[in-house]
Amino acid sequence: MECFIVQPEDVAGETLLLRDEEAHHAIRSLRLRSGDALLATNLIGTCYRCLLSDDDRDATWASCSIQEILPEFGEPAREVLLIQGFISQPARWEFLIEKATELGVRTIAPVITEHTERAHYKADRSERILRAAVKQTKRARKPGIRLSGLGEFTTLETALVEASKEDRSIFLLHEAAQGNSVGLTERVATLPDSKAIAVVVGPEGGFSDEEVARAAGEYGAQIISLGPRRLRAETAAIAALAIVIE
Ligand code: SAH
Repeated sequence: MECFIVQPEDVAGETLLLRDEEAHHAIRSLRLRSGDALLATNLIGTCYRCLLSDDDRDATWASCSIQEILPEFGEPAREVLLIQGFISQPARWEFLIEKATELGVRTIAPVITEHTERAHYKADRSERILRAAVKQTKRARKPGIRLSGLGEFTTLETALVEASKEDRSIFLLHEAAQGNSVGLTERVATLPDSKAIAVVVGPEGGFSDEEVARAAGEYGAQIISLGPRRLRAETAAIAALAIVIE
């Protein structure tokens, strides 16, 4: 059963309306017909199991009858924020946000750190990748990208302050820390599902010693190693998310 995106305002009673490219995808690309089953996600926490009921000949809309409402469908029990030193290579950044979406992350905060390289953030491309990943993964939520009020990257410091205010357990991944991934597994296992967490990963250039010390000293971050090998930032983030999200 394929998954499509529905605008929350297009759900009314027992009917929902797919529009534009979502309708086109269903009617023209997948050639769904009346009576065919499909899943719709509103990206903010609800999926709907539906049957296609009608469409216009131009596939600009498709109406569906809702068979079952599925709150939090495909969503993990634990709410996870990824604070990620911005990865300047677009392909690597886009790979990471796609995998983080598949793995169930709730929010991604790209941050400026001492060693991040200046790069232009392509918000519309990232949005397209997130939406496609939500459909492929069949989730009720699209991960939020946490930016400043001006729509720019925040700093590592700001993201840590926010994470503390949200009473998250904070795990900062650092290649120079002792131990291995068992450490992260064991620490997360002690937390109730209701405890939100933040996973903090550095950019290609890694964290400075001051950043690590401050995260631990000021924000109680637990400094975690994933083992002796030096991982690429996106690898470390994906491995950590796979460990902390059930
Ligand atoms: N510049 C560093 C490597 C940075 S790798 C160097 O050259 O040594 C980018 C990020 O991935 C790091 O900041 C860290 O958050 C994470 N990372 C890489 N390998 C890791 C490991 N073995 N354990 C924990 N985190 C790791």
